[in-house]
Amino acid sequence: MIPPIVPRVGAATHTGLRRSLNEDAYLAQAPLFLVADGMGGHRAGDLASGTVIDGFAALAGRATLTVDDVAFTLARARAAVEALGGTALDEGTAARAGTTLSGVAVAAVDGVGYWLAVNIGDSRTYRLSGGVLEQVSVDHSVVQELIDAGELSRADASRDRRRNVITRAIGAGSTGEADYWMIPARIGDRILVCSDGLSSEIGDDEIRTVLTVHEDPQVAADRLIEHALECGGRDNVTAIVVDALHVSSRPGGSGGGEVDDDIDSDTRPRAEAMGGMR
Ligand code: MN
Repeated sequence: MIPPIVPRVGAATHTGLRRSLNEDAYLAQAPLFLVADGMGGHRAGDLASGTVIDGFAALAGRATLTVDDVAFTLARARAAVEALGGTALDEGTAARAGTTLSGVAVAAVDGVGYWLAVNIGDSRTYRLSGGVLEQVSVDHSVVQELIDAGELSRADASRDRRRNVITRAIGAGSTGEADYWMIPARIGDRILVCSDGLSSEIGDDEIRTVLTVHEDPQVAADRLIEHALECGGRDNVTAIVVDALHVSSRPGGSGGGEVDDDIDSDTRPRAEAMGGMR
């Protein structure tokens, strides 16, 4: 049976030019395309992001996933991150261990292919569709809250000293929920999942240009990493590029991929983070 979305994927990660350890981790195997950016120091971030990605790797090979599948796996991963104190980390370091998680799973509604996007923290999921690049995920960060409140412009956010402060994570003392979106997929969609080591070094316009110029998703992922390094490479940087080669329409339909592509139609409102980590 053909899965509802037939993907073609490229992925790359790099420690960057300033750090000694790559605390990003990723999974790029259908039906899951996920990036996790670990934090906490003393190997805590490395273990946290790896633990979450390992948890989701158990779902690789399934045709589709549901929001419940992802939420269940995320809850188990969160418990595993919170239990890291019993492993290689001392208690103080384990308490700080945490990770972001962002990306998409292949999902289906009545046989129609959907991107199931998930996000917690400030790694990002973008969609390039019909030549338009949209950021699907909404950062759980202090600067995003200030932008939402009208207290900070998007242009100033990239230079704000609070730009690295996130308001939700898996671990790190956070109980904040992930956001989920169900997005009807279209043939030719290109999804980008990345850590903030990419989005903090290069702007959306440059990301869009690279994604538009390079047809091969592996080449596009490699070029994005190269651009981030050229711009300073101050953080670990990870990029997954996923193309929808085929999207199933309704059973018995024409076989085309034309479905309602109103990206907001199934968006779940972002819960308000009331200051600091929850
Ligand atoms: Mn990072």
